[in-house]
Amino acid sequence: MKLKCPACGATGTDVAPYEHERPEGAPPLPESTKRDMDAYAFEVYGNLGGRPVRKCLNCGAGIRVTFLPPRFRKLSDEEWAEFKVRFETWREQDRARVEAQVRNLNQEDQ
Ligand SMILES: [Zn+2]
Repeated sequence: MKLKCPACGATGTDVAPYEHERPEGAPPLPESTKRDMDAYAFEVYGNLGGRPVRKCLNCGAGIRVTFLPPRFRKLSDEEWAEFKVRFETWREQDRARVEAQVRNLNQEDQ
């Protein structure tokens, strides 16, 4: 998804570049995906009221994406502060849950 930050005017996508090497033999990425990764400027931050939320990596603003123009609405400082804590807590818990599952799987293998 292409976005424009209503706070600082930055533009870009929410397609995060791969953090790790792609496995050997994996099909090459399409050029359009590579371009989107190069333009990465917005971090995926879950959703609020069923609409996607993104964090602008340039100015740190929280942005809610809506159907109708203006499509990108800046969350108020209070909304964003509250939502950020909620999302980051959830993300930590989710990460811990996945790590526990991986540990269990590894134990079952032995
Ligand atoms: Zn911004």
